[in-house]
Amino acid sequence: RAKQEGKNRYRFFAPEINAQASERLFMANSLRTALDRDELKLVFQPCMDLATLEVAGVEALVRWEHPQKGTILPSRFISLAEESGLIEPIGEWVLREAARRVREWKNAGIFAGRVAVNLSPRQFRRSDLASRLLAMLGEAGLAPRDLELEVTEGMIMEHPERAVVVLTELVAAGVSISIDDFGTGYSSLAYLKRFPVHSLKIDRSFVSGLPADRNDRSLTRAVVALAKSLGLAVVAEGVEHAEQADFLRRIGCDFAQGHYFSRPLDTATLGAFLREARTQEVHS
Ligand code: C2E
Ligand code: MG
Ligand code: MG
Ligand code: MG
Repeated sequence: RAKQEGKNRYRFFAPEINAQASERLFMANSLRTALDRDELKLVFQPCMDLATLEVAGVEALVRWEHPQKGTILPSRFISLAEESGLIEPIGEWVLREAARRVREWKNAGIFAGRVAVNLSPRQFRRSDLASRLLAMLGEAGLAPRDLELEVTEGMIMEHPERAVVVLTELVAAGVSISIDDFGTGYSSLAYLKRFPVHSLKIDRSFVSGLPADRNDRSLTRAVVALAKSLGLAVVAEGVEHAEQADFLRRIGCDFAQGHYFSRPLDTATLGAFLREARTQEVHS
């Protein structure tokens, strides 16, 4: 009888689980064709120098323009792409597309900063990452210093010895490395010292409570102090208010991104944003 009840219980929960599973299956299948159908797009969020308020660079963020479902954010499809392996062609497309856009802005004389691209764990595990990346930059007519790669603490700590080798190869070629969502994962401070990284990006969850929240104030101060003592730059993510930007500038944070400065913009709008920033520079 207990067995039977167990079965019934299983059946009771099954439809819900099935709905979730079939949603994922549907997404996985349509993601497979998304690349071929040209449904992926990049948006770019400016990263501001807090001292000068100039655009220091941009971060490329992927969007899926689904013909029926509209714009789908990466939180809904990146992990799926990671599991299915589709992240490899998608990640490759993101890198090429970002490089192509930067080439366009450089040609138009409106951009002199870096483009930051998020890497996924699977991409980071590939032993030919550095050579493929450098070849791709060459094809796009960009230099390694035009590119910044964002990795997470989890990606590095998965296999620290391998990460040191890969990062060292990239950095030797001139690519910049930043640790994204810093503070949300686990990094060993001993490794942090050994890793050839250039900047820490303070996760949005620590910025959102600024400047009122005492714990967030302590944490952001601690990360800035840590970065400075290791000779790294600090970027704050998710800055939404002037008060947050002021606080971060006062504690010595170098760069900031967030809706207060600009939302992620499509290519045309970013072009206009950069052109305007340029004009302001020339006139001031
Ligand atoms: P992330 O790299 O930490 O990117 C920052 C996220 O914060 C972006 O979300 C951005 O739109 C959002 N954001 C920026 N400023 C603000 C703000 O002021 N307030 C709030 N509430 N949010 C802000 P998005 O574009 O949805 O991307 C989410 C995550 O997906 C990214 O986090 C990144 O980890 C991943 N991702 C995005 N594009 C790619 C990609 O091309 N490849 C890989 N592997 N991952 C990507
Ligand atoms: Mg990022
Ligand atoms: Mg991230
Ligand atoms: Mg982040």
